[in-house]
Amino acid sequence: MLFTCDRNIIMFEIIIDERCTGCGKCRAVCPKGPRVFEIIDNRAVIKDARSCLNCATCQSFCPAGAIKIRW
Ligand code: SF4
Ligand code: SF4
Repeated sequence: MLFTCDRNIIMFEIIIDERCTGCGKCRAVCPKGPRVFEIIDNRAVIKDARSCLNCATCQSFCPAGAIKIRW
């Protein structure tokens, strides 16, 4: 999934690719996890990118390497 968000002057993308297994690790480690992520049909889905703090923790912890935060 590709999501682009304008958060004041910061533009970024949270990309979740097809390697996602829906394990929920991203949602668990994200400081805003329940706001940002939803797990639907064994895939992580971005629910609210505006809650993202741009910390890249989800990218670091995803066991499938399926998340990319791009600034
Ligand atoms: S941690 Fe990675 S594999 Fe697991 S649900 Fe999140 S994006 Fe998908
Ligand atoms: S970059 Fe940080 S705040 Fe944003 S979704 Fe990933 S873990 Fe959550």
